[in-house]
Amino acid sequence: MHHLQQRQDVLRTAQTIARTHMVVGTWGNVSVRVPDQPYLLITPSGMRYDTMTIEDIVMVDWPGQTVEGKWKPSVETPTHAWIYQHRPDVNAVVHVHSPHLTAFAVARLPVPVILEETAQVIGHEIRTAPYAICGTARLADNVVQTLGSGVAVLLANHGMVGVGKNIEEALRVCIIAEETARIALLAQSLGQVHALTPKEIEKLHRGFAAYGQTKE
Ligand SMILES: [Zn+2]
Repeated sequence: MHHLQQRQDVLRTAQTIARTHMVVGTWGNVSVRVPDQPYLLITPSGMRYDTMTIEDIVMVDWPGQTVEGKWKPSVETPTHAWIYQHRPDVNAVVHVHSPHLTAFAVARLPVPVILEETAQVIGHEIRTAPYAICGTARLADNVVQTLGSGVAVLLANHGMVGVGKNIEEALRVCIIAEETARIALLAQSLGQVHALTPKEIEKLHRGFAAYGQTKE
């Protein structure tokens, strides 16, 4: 078995989203790009995360055909594969159904940039991709179109996809997005939601990127 580190990254992140209630049961999925090969490693379809091992992670090619692995890959493989094909800068994709984000996805309203960490980590409001049935090429295309050059996109009546240069970044996008959606709903119940201005967002986002680079 190859790509042990990448397999461990996928497994650890899948277990994290389950443990932190960003998904229930076997829903949600996680993938990483295989370095220097037109493949991705993705969680298997409908399998419990707590008993999953790195051998259960499936390697698929761009169209989503299995290259290595004994299980069927996640039903959302087309969306993951389509993102990697359109975004060479993306090396990891995390898909969650966390409750506050999903509420925005059901309302089909954008999650506003209301917190400094939203500006720093995400840097844009999170828009909703038009509805399509899960696992379809149509959904994959809607997600890619609405995501654009961003890092987070809501899937109408479904959940959210976060992407990143690496798996830590993609997971962080999901965590911050859910926290942002939760606070936005709380603020809304108080009657006022003030988003940061585009200038403030840009400044915070740029500052955080520079901070990340100096740390590396
Ligand atoms: Zn889903």
